[in-house]
Amino acid sequence: MALAEFELIREHFQRAGTRADVVLGVGDDCALLTVPAGMQLAVSLDLLVSGVHFLPDVAPEALGWKALAVNLSDLAAMGAEPAWVTLGLTLPAADAGWLAAFCRGFYALAAEHGVELVGGDTTRGPLAIAVQVHGFVAPGAALTRAGARPGDLICVSGTPGFAALGLARCLGRTELPEPLAATALERLERPQPRVALGRALRGLATACIDVSDGLAQDLGHILEASGVGASVEVERVPRPPLADADAALQAALAGGDDYELCFTLPPGRLPGLAAAAAAGGCACSVIGRIEAAPGLRLRRADGSLLPLARGGYEHFG
Ligand code: ADP
Ligand code: MG
Repeated sequence: MALAEFELIREHFQRAGTRADVVLGVGDDCALLTVPAGMQLAVSLDLLVSGVHFLPDVAPEALGWKALAVNLSDLAAMGAEPAWVTLGLTLPAADAGWLAAFCRGFYALAAEHGVELVGGDTTRGPLAIAVQVHGFVAPGAALTRAGARPGDLICVSGTPGFAALGLARCLGRTELPEPLAATALERLERPQPRVALGRALRGLATACIDVSDGLAQDLGHILEASGVGASVEVERVPRPPLADADAALQAALAGGDDYELCFTLPPGRLPGLAAAAAAGGCACSVIGRIEAAPGLRLRRADGSLLPLARGGYEHFG
């Protein structure tokens, strides 16, 4: 990009620091950061590509929010404290209005979580966004995918499925009544990473994952990493209030992009769940149990098994 364009980018991303552990932020060749003594660094990167992870005409403010939200969600799923973020941007043009709106969304969420943007890179090209977050977690305290044990209860935060409905509506594949349509769009465009819940689950949950690809699929990652199986009682899975009961359940089980947390805990720790939910500012539902036999079984109330297709979105056609 031309010099003026780099200046424009620095103008948007070089701001007064907010954290004492940032010795040197945006502007030099590297950021200089101080990791608190005795803590581990939790690092995660998510790439968002236009037309793949978001619709090309999405509002840039929503995009700025979501690019950070999906990354903070990964820290939440590990029980890590968000600290720093770096941003890689590929832009078709250095559009001042677009950048200003993107920054509004990005910095609004960063401020909510006390996260500081400490560096990045910007080039010209098809619109794509890479965000890397850095957080802190005490040794041994991180919530991995590998800790689930037979007998553990399976829980999910909030109500998964709204974001998939929002996407289906944006793609013209479904019609939704208000206020459901507004809620679904809000969940799709401005997901709330469950950072406070992840923090409250440290010492409580045995395994945790954030639901980005659908509850059934992401729970499957816990099962695989932990070397266990599970039964989910489908009638206990919270779902959006749709007139079509099958579509509602399908959205909850297979819809991605809600960034709720799915986690496991031993039954003896169940009394701690209400406090964690309160600290997290969201409901947490027990939806099933970890079993020794591998595989995921989705059980209806009558005990019969529900087949689940791998992908979710095509079911809204
Ligand atoms: P270099 O050539 O050394 O990589 P750049 O011109 O790419 O330097 O970047 C200058 C400064 O601006 C660096 O501190 C870099 O981290 C920061 N920066 C560039 N792009 C971004 C961005 N999209 N977000 C945050 N910081 C950025
Ligand atoms: Mg650079």
